[in-house]
Amino acid sequence: MRCQLVNAVDSRGQAMSLSLAEGCIRAELAGQRIDLGGARLLPGLINAHDHLHLNGALPRLKFRSGYRNASEWIADITPQLSTDPGLLAHRRQPRALRFLAGGLKNLLSGVTTVLHHDPRDAVLDEPGFPVDVPAPGGWSHSLALDGDEAVRASHQATPAGRPWIVHAAEGIDTAAALEFDRLEALGCIAPGTLLVHGLGLSAAQQRRLVEAGAAVVWCPGSNLHLFGRTLDPEWLFAQGRLALGSDSRISGGRDLLAELALVRELTRWSEERLEAWVTEGAARLLGLTDRGRLEPGLRADLIALPPGLPLSHATRADLRLVVVGGRPLYADADLGETLGLTPVRVDGRPKAIAPHLLIAEPGLELLAEEVPA
Ligand SMILES: [Zn+2]
Repeated sequence: MRCQLVNAVDSRGQAMSLSLAEGCIRAELAGQRIDLGGARLLPGLINAHDHLHLNGALPRLKFRSGYRNASEWIADITPQLSTDPGLLAHRRQPRALRFLAGGLKNLLSGVTTVLHHDPRDAVLDEPGFPVDVPAPGGWSHSLALDGDEAVRASHQATPAGRPWIVHAAEGIDTAAALEFDRLEALGCIAPGTLLVHGLGLSAAQQRRLVEAGAAVVWCPGSNLHLFGRTLDPEWLFAQGRLALGSDSRISGGRDLLAELALVRELTRWSEERLEAWVTEGAARLLGLTDRGRLEPGLRADLIALPPGLPLSHATRADLRLVVVGGRPLYADADLGETLGLTPVRVDGRPKAIAPHLLIAEPGLELLAEEVPA
């Protein structure tokens, strides 16, 4: 749709209006006027790690008090996949619907771009999918699941400098830490490499990683749930070599806003730094040059926050508007009719959402006549 967002402010509180057309931000103001009532506009958030098909109503999984590494956790989960009623019910849902639920989880939290880990589904590339899911240059699950040779082959098949993503050093024991050395020996620690978790990295390994031009995707909620601790992010953050991921709901928190609130508690980084980190900073680190800032010519991926509310204090019910690729998909109830959205309640608050996204999601209440897909 072609529209202009008026009566808004930027991050410094200066008045701003934005025009959107053909999925991009435009310099000239034109189209239908949408009054944001003084809301603050930010670029859409970038979630650097999720498993989109493992969200919806799935609970956080843990079968002992704590783990030393991810292999122990995966070994505990595997037998449950064919016996646990909740996991079985989830797996019985159509595959596309499971992915859609992961997209919806992200959209509701202001995320407009997700790096999905695991094989893709065709639904990710359909025009109605609620978030943009760029394909990385390459990915591998982990050394533990894929083995050294497959990991090396996956990295070698990735075009130079493009993101290549792998779970690594996900744990607090020696085996987790040694995964970095194994990847290094395989030639996989290189520009574009993104290690998801990196919890077990020593300071020396962090230095080698940065010197090689690689980076870490931090998923603090997942780490704390499984291992009772997370990495010290300060040095990687200062080097600009850290991104934030939610991970899926079977280990992480509800969404990226929950992770961001956790990061604020763990670090005391300023609000300004947090906001830049999950937008412009993430886009730069992930090589996504067409997003991350509110500038003409870039993708129209944006969110609007109520005046005065810092991003890291916001929950999904606070978001006034979420626009993905120029499509307004989630908004406050008073904007719903203008934007062609359907009234719903999110966590008890009146909101509105694109009609094709009326699917089952904890906390999303459909109004009487709507039936979840
Ligand atoms: Zn993961």
